[in-house]
Amino acid sequence: MSKYLISKYQSLEAYTPGEQPRDMKYVKLNTNESPYPASDGVIKSISAEEVAKLNLYPDPECKFLKQKLADHYGVGYDNVFISNGSDEILSFAFMAFCSDEVGAIFPDISYGFYKVYGDLYKVNYTEIPLKSDFSINADDYTNSGKTVIIANPNAPTGLSISLEDIEKIVKTNSENVVIIDEAYIDFGGKTCLELTKKYENLLIVRTYSKSRSMAGARLGFAIGSKALIDDLNRIKYSTNPYNINRLTLIAGCAAIDDNDYYADCCKKIAETREYTKQKLAQLGFEYLDSDSNFVFARNDKISGEEYYKQLKKNGVLVRHFSNPKISDYVRITIGTRGQMDILFDVTKKILGEV
Ligand code: PMP
Repeated sequence: MSKYLISKYQSLEAYTPGEQPRDMKYVKLNTNESPYPASDGVIKSISAEEVAKLNLYPDPECKFLKQKLADHYGVGYDNVFISNGSDEILSFAFMAFCSDEVGAIFPDISYGFYKVYGDLYKVNYTEIPLKSDFSINADDYTNSGKTVIIANPNAPTGLSISLEDIEKIVKTNSENVVIIDEAYIDFGGKTCLELTKKYENLLIVRTYSKSRSMAGARLGFAIGSKALIDDLNRIKYSTNPYNINRLTLIAGCAAIDDNDYYADCCKKIAETREYTKQKLAQLGFEYLDSDSNFVFARNDKISGEEYYKQLKKNGVLVRHFSNPKISDYVRITIGTRGQMDILFDVTKKILGEV
């Protein structure tokens, strides 16, 4: 072990991203990317002329994109924060709004990065067990006296929490920040965007990585009161003021102009999700009723780990989690109809049902 390792982080258990293998071409249903390419407008926006300007720093304020998002979502310019993927906002939010003193609470089964940021920033956090049906019990989060972080829809379950429940949580934690991670909201959940106008303590986190087919560009944004956005900006300007590169800023604007294309992609993904649920049921799977671009499923005939391994051997990647509470399951990203049919054919072979 190198003597130069910073010992205070030696015991930190880092986040494990989904596999991005380069050894062969897989049907990639493991990291909840969109199966559809970026829109024509986005592709055209990255011109040779713009690439040539890479000698210049990008606009640290992200003015054009911020205004575009503010107009699109009907909020003020000062209510938008732009980040290098939504992971960066979550990181900044844990840094800004959670501490040893002001703890944090989030579900025990949720996006794995919450726990990693909690550990990284030495936050006194509590993981709240989901109910036995994997849903979130809103009453576990009311009057908490802590920073609340909830993904809606939740990952990897895909289950949504109602707007009434979110409002109850936000209202009863008025002295604390409530962060609603809406990474998957465009596939069927109900956004709490309007509540940000009513409650100063609510921050919503969004990403271009899923519904806007731009995981490779690394772009996320948050919407909330000016006070919360100012705090995030203070951290951005104290760590990496040029956090969004020039090309991503341009592509981010073009993607909003092409909103109809992306809305259509989301519609197709939601239709394929319902088709996937039917097919999984026919193959003897149980699954949670996802509102997202993935389905969390299990089958009595095969363990989650074995199913994941057999799929991989056959060129299909899905995500398996070793946490014993969910190790029976795999999380399957919704691809195109053609990709899902490959998954079903391979599954039939694995289950010996050909
Ligand atoms: N939140 C949730 C719930 C996620 O699943 C992800 C994607 N892994 C993210 C945030 C982060 O996405 P990105 O950094 O690509 O915006």
